[in-house]
Amino acid sequence: MPRLAPVTDESIREAATILRSHRVVAFPTETVYGLGADAFSAAAVSRIFAMKGRPADNPIIVHVIDALQAKQRVAGSWSERCDLLAARFWPGPLTLVVPRSAHLPEVVVAGRDTVAIRSPRHPVARRLLVEVGRPIAAPSANRSGHVSPTTAAHVAADFDDVADLLILDGGPCEIGIESTVLDMTADPPRLLRHGSITTDMLRDEFGRLDETRLIRQDAGPGTAARHYAPRTRTALGTTRDVLDALNNSSIVCVAVVTSANLARGAANPRSSVIVMPDDPQRYAARLYGALREADARGADVILIESPRSRDGLWASIRDRIERACAPRLDETEDGT
Ligand code: AMP
Ligand code: MG
Repeated sequence: MPRLAPVTDESIREAATILRSHRVVAFPTETVYGLGADAFSAAAVSRIFAMKGRPADNPIIVHVIDALQAKQRVAGSWSERCDLLAARFWPGPLTLVVPRSAHLPEVVVAGRDTVAIRSPRHPVARRLLVEVGRPIAAPSANRSGHVSPTTAAHVAADFDDVADLLILDGGPCEIGIESTVLDMTADPPRLLRHGSITTDMLRDEFGRLDETRLIRQDAGPGTAARHYAPRTRTALGTTRDVLDALNNSSIVCVAVVTSANLARGAANPRSSVIVMPDDPQRYAARLYGALREADARGADVILIESPRSRDGLWASIRDRIERACAPRLDETEDGT
């Protein structure tokens, strides 16, 4: 069984000791919980891949305390543009892909000549980075392909068979969806993954941004259409679709909605409704928890009411919903 530990000086010290002895700990960041290892320990990073069942060609984000540590330890080169972005958005939910340091183990970058780096702003992640004094490689702390964890309990549920996994319990994640990923080796910089640093905020910084290859299978590792998905079949629908499903007594559905009036009851007593916040920040923070709850209800289908807006953070929320809804690769060859 994993072990949930409240955040204290002692548990932070213990987590750092575990990292120094080439083992793995789970810790909160402002986006989602991470499964961390010393970025310079090939053995520990390999353990992350094994625990997650993560494909070996999917590189891991390296977490650093600041831009100086990124430059000195992790990056092979670091442009002025990276400095500008770090000054504006770090610590925070923006990951920069840059040329890698030759000293990083191959396994972290999955054999690539680039590395993804981020400086998290969550106080627990920062205390851990300071205590261990080294960069921490950390993907989301979920089994590969499953919904990312936004509470310590989500991590424990995904790794319930892992004896002795220490999970620092920092409460629910503030942002709730993974970081924005920006490829700084392209010109203009290329968006690899939507996140809470929105395209508008990045365009403010650059004027130009390449979003053309986003969400395609070949856009980069981890950008395959189906990702972050519940096990139950999941679909995106209009308010009308949700009403129809709730009025249909022959299916069991969990409707994830923003229109509170849809919560009035369903024709099938086993169908149910999860009402989401209206505000995009709160919606994002709630999304993965809601998907996990919906999944646990054992319905035929999870039906998500399409959010009304596509602006700002809603674009990133829609991206995650669409990935949750993409057909399983074993159901169709056309995952896009
Ligand atoms: P996660 O599993 O949430 O840690 O996702 C890591 C994400 O970082 C992947 O989806 C990739 O898009 C991105 N990533 C990490 N390293 C690289 C890299 N060297 N080049 C391009 N993308 C990367
Ligand atoms: Mg992940």
